[in-house]
Amino acid sequence: MKRRHQRSALALLTAAGTLGVAAPAVAAPAATGTVVTGGTPLNTRSGPSATSPRIGTVENGATVSIVCRIAGQFISGSVSNTGHWDRLADNSYVSDAYVRRGDAEIPKCAATTPMPAVTGSWMLPVPAGLVSGFRTRQRPAHDGVDLGATRNTAIRSASAGTVIRVVCNVSRGTCDVDGNSSLRGCGWYAEVQHAGNVVTRYCHMVRRPSVTVGQTVARGSILGYVGTSGASSGPHLHFEVHAGVPATSANAISPVAFMRARGLTIR
Ligand SMILES: [Zn+2]
Repeated sequence: MKRRHQRSALALLTAAGTLGVAAPAVAAPAATGTVVTGGTPLNTRSGPSATSPRIGTVENGATVSIVCRIAGQFISGSVSNTGHWDRLADNSYVSDAYVRRGDAEIPKCAATTPMPAVTGSWMLPVPAGLVSGFRTRQRPAHDGVDLGATRNTAIRSASAGTVIRVVCNVSRGTCDVDGNSSLRGCGWYAEVQHAGNVVTRYCHMVRRPSVTVGQTVARGSILGYVGTSGASSGPHLHFEVHAGVPATSANAISPVAFMRARGLTIR
């Protein structure tokens, strides 16, 4: 879709945003453990298996804070042989087969909506896979990625920043109804400006975004909910990353490459 952005100066960047926005729920750790691998660092994963995307590493001998445990891929490790995986405070997982710990009871992870993958200061905005890529041959003007999240999935700010746009963008009618592919426009959307003049954009929300312009958001703050407003043929999140302010088609960059550089895999 094409949008003309008539942008005023970025006032408000230092304005007193609301800091009361909920960050993603980070449960208190239930236990701590010591990573024992025999030497090499232990990979942390986005899910409870060795094939889940790698989030980061924990050094041999390091202490980890375990929030809960979940059944996953069976691993023969240097501490035990087990199918249990430990969820850490950053929502990543390590195999319990490499964790030495005391007898503290570790609760099962609640069967809640999964959190998107998180690394240091960035995360994916929704826990959903890629359904349409950035500027593919079929869609060379597609300036973002489509993530196949279901209607009403929470959309989280990919990093800390300031909300700089909250807009209904549709060629006809309103954004408060399901759109369709005969329309143009991103529907209800929000933009967040991050450090380094990076802007992220979140489109096709089900209703007016939950945030307002000038508001300060944390990584993981809920910006709104997945819908299909504007030029959209079904519920999904259209997510863009821009290297510059204001966000324009000219400064759109691949969210896949951007996130990969931060250890996050969109796939
Ligand atoms: Zn899209």
